[in-house]
Amino acid sequence: MTRKKPDPVLTRTASRETAAVEMTAFGVVQGVGFRPFVFRLAERFGYRGWVKNIGRGVEIHLESEKPADFGRFLAALESEKPPLARVEKIGVRPARALGCRFFEIRKTTGGPSFVFISPDIATCANCHREILSPAERRYRYPFTNCTDCGPRYTIVRSLPYDRANTTMAGFSMCADCRREYEDPRDRRYHAQPIACPVCGPQLTLREARTGRVSPGGIDEAARLIRAGKILAVKGLGGFHLVCDPRSASALRELRRLKERQTKPLALMARDLATIKEFAFLGPGERRELMSASRPIVLLRKKKDIPEVAPHLDEIGFMLPYTPLHHLLLERLGLIVATSSNRKDAPIAKDEGEGIASLCDFVLTHNRPIASRADDSVMKLLDGRPLFVRRARGYVPHPQRVPVELESDAQVLALGGELKDTVSVYKNGYVVTSQFLGDLDEYRNFRYFEETVAHLERLFDVTPGVVVSDLHPEFRTTRYARASGLRHIAVQHHFAHVLAVLIEHGIPAGQKVLGVAFDGYGYGEDGAAWGGEFLLADYLGFERIARLKPVPLPGGDAAAREPARMALAYLRDAFGDKLPELEPFRGVERKKIRLVLEMMEKGINSPLTSSCGRLFDAVSFLAGAAPPRVEFEAEAPMRLEAVSRRRARAGYPFEADLTAVPWEVSFAPAIREIVREVRKGAGAARIGPKFHRTLADAVTAVALKARDVHGVDTVALVGGVFLNRPLVSLARTFLQDKKFTVLMPEKYSPNDESLSLGQAAHALARLAL
Ligand SMILES: [Zn+2]
Ligand SMILES: [Zn+2]
Repeated sequence: MTRKKPDPVLTRTASRETAAVEMTAFGVVQGVGFRPFVFRLAERFGYRGWVKNIGRGVEIHLESEKPADFGRFLAALESEKPPLARVEKIGVRPARALGCRFFEIRKTTGGPSFVFISPDIATCANCHREILSPAERRYRYPFTNCTDCGPRYTIVRSLPYDRANTTMAGFSMCADCRREYEDPRDRRYHAQPIACPVCGPQLTLREARTGRVSPGGIDEAARLIRAGKILAVKGLGGFHLVCDPRSASALRELRRLKERQTKPLALMARDLATIKEFAFLGPGERRELMSASRPIVLLRKKKDIPEVAPHLDEIGFMLPYTPLHHLLLERLGLIVATSSNRKDAPIAKDEGEGIASLCDFVLTHNRPIASRADDSVMKLLDGRPLFVRRARGYVPHPQRVPVELESDAQVLALGGELKDTVSVYKNGYVVTSQFLGDLDEYRNFRYFEETVAHLERLFDVTPGVVVSDLHPEFRTTRYARASGLRHIAVQHHFAHVLAVLIEHGIPAGQKVLGVAFDGYGYGEDGAAWGGEFLLADYLGFERIARLKPVPLPGGDAAAREPARMALAYLRDAFGDKLPELEPFRGVERKKIRLVLEMMEKGINSPLTSSCGRLFDAVSFLAGAAPPRVEFEAEAPMRLEAVSRRRARAGYPFEADLTAVPWEVSFAPAIREIVREVRKGAGAARIGPKFHRTLADAVTAVALKARDVHGVDTVALVGGVFLNRPLVSLARTFLQDKKFTVLMPEKYSPNDESLSLGQAAHALARLAL
């Protein structure tokens, strides 16, 4: 947003007549406390007039009988705006004075609107102070909130955003709360979830097995956690499972209940000082940890806490984001706070969902959750955020689409299957849902259906077009086909690339080189893609290069067993004469023979160009990953964890530029890695060199693509680009060669962003 300096409209001084201006602000200015903010500002300046919502913006009419400097008002409007407001454009024009007698907030009028609904916001400093102050009536009240903070997305049931349409509907305000709610000068003016100990939600502590109520509330809950018990604690978007990270037996029990032996667990710490004891904190990390969205931030370990994030060099921390968390952490300092889901189900949002079987005690409350949302997870890379999971605190922030893609149609995009999200498009904005999990699980699919309905209701969307992945067998694709709506299917990696383009506002028609590296996506030819170089704009793409395909012995099973992928890559590099290697000691001979035979005979061994699977193979060969892992990216993450050093040079690779598409083969690298392994080299030596090799390969293809296609912008996407050393190296090498490098910053590079990219392609098609 730009603003000219001396503006005759703004500095108009009335001699006898009253000075008046009209301002219009567009962007995210509705439902974020903007009108009461303008009200208070106008009172401060002594202006009269009104503020009201119009279409996609806010209209402000200002009058002053005294000489007025509306420029100062405008400056304050920009610099002091509510934390969630995003002003994209402000217009100012002279107006006729109407002789207003006071300043007022008027009712909304006309125009196609995009009504914003706020994400949940962490407890603000004012509310935090209040709950710690014995003189306040909200002293130690766990549901304290105000216009600047508190639950939003997770409690809204439908539009408009009024208390009656939230899960606070069942609580009628007491006289004191009502007074605050109705006073435009109060910080709780129109705070829909307003509550106090007299009229608001209440906590209950229950024994899980018997359901018996335990007295003592938060104090007793803290005591139980300290005593090594596991508690389910109801937060904003669902229950956390909580325990003391210093209790080895509690951690073991938690892992047993969740059926997760190695998956990292998140920690919640009282304050930054506590986090600093265990992890390294840069300024970016501090900023994100303290932000109103309060994500889990992955930090480099300083002092390990055994069993919390085994085999990794990063550990996830968050700060308290509700008064309940603050009060609990005040007593405990540090807790494990992990999402309360079983392997095949979404985060639990009420006690009826089997939460009692996962814990010893339940600390719950009677404010229902309208929409589940997991904690968001991010890390910082070269100072920029990189989302591992985007959910609570960020959803449902809208994404503006480039003007050329705007459409009157409303669109529903369904994403893929793993790590899914859905997106809706309406009136210039795409809203992407929270992370929904893996939809091959029945209960997660219900969560998907729940969320589609929730978003459609919240944003008043009646889709005319539905978009899915190209995969014919995904549940989401079948859902799209069954909808009876116009159905557009979008290739997986193409959707990945478009998500980055739309986030960065790349105009329609501009071509970029999208480097999409991930585990698996259904290709246009039906094959398993995952190491793709796409020349793309919103309308279409050409696959100009790929990683050389190798067999995926056993299909899906190969993603859980890095040893299988290692055999596939060894066979590719050495043919029939496979070398004897140390890491295979842990694998049965019979199993090795079986996997090799599968590939030879072509049984259940589709070809894949997956970069994720290449990582699996190398991680196993280097000795960083076991033959079998628990979760999909575990092997690459373990290799990344030992790749802190920078290698001076990478391994050799081959690029076949006569093939269509061009083909990058890492067979020479695999041969070199094998040679080093036999000489006793470990993962700490091989890891950094391998990361560098991949970055070299990306750069080589980009240079060739520039020669042949004249493309100067490279987008790096797909789950593989959550890898710190790879992103750092690839970005540096590409920028050294004067490429513009685009990375996702507001959305995850993994499959969570597919629905956003799918929506972008559908809009481009609709704009034809
Ligand atoms: Zn507050
Ligand atoms: Zn009250």
